[in-house]
Amino acid sequence: MIFIHDTRQSLVAAVYLVNTLPGFDGEDTLQTVDDFEAYLAVNPYTGTIRRDRQEIDALRAVRPRLRALWDVDRDGAVPLVNEMLSDGRALPRLVTHDDEDWHIHATADDAPLATRVLVEAAMAFVDVIRADEYDRVRVCSADDCDAVYIDYSRNSSKRYCDTGNCGNRMNVNAYRERRARQSA
Ligand SMILES: [Zn+2]
Ligand SMILES: [Zn+2]
Repeated sequence: MIFIHDTRQSLVAAVYLVNTLPGFDGEDTLQTVDDFEAYLAVNPYTGTIRRDRQEIDALRAVRPRLRALWDVDRDGAVPLVNEMLSDGRALPRLVTHDDEDWHIHATADDAPLATRVLVEAAMAFVDVIRADEYDRVRVCSADDCDAVYIDYSRNSSKRYCDTGNCGNRMNVNAYRERRARQSA
């Protein structure tokens, strides 16, 4: 296992959020309450969730800050992560709730959701940086896709995101190109 369970959960949530930003396809997929509910269904949060416009807009607004983590290397990520922790007034403590084992919450349960999401992502990136695994923080290699992902594969060999079926699409393209060259 590359990252421990709760770190990975937080990374999955950060990737989800960043990939709702309008990419090459130009569509923002975190706009409506339904979009928000879809995010929460995959990435459940404890603590206060108000489900109002203000909360959705605040969550939308943290996305560019998270996206910036994919534009930097390990050293470049450090000031971004530190700033997120201090802006969110992170104060780590160990907690256990529901059927979750001991893990870290670094914000109050009634802090705004956007703050909790930002700090949680920052805490996860603290682990990525400390483990010296920042080369796993990647943007999809497909020509027509700029979705982000984290490579959890053992040999660090993943090249495409999980959102757009990009691996299959690029394989089909390569196959067609090979065929076209052979018949030329
Ligand atoms: Zn928790
Ligand atoms: Zn992709």
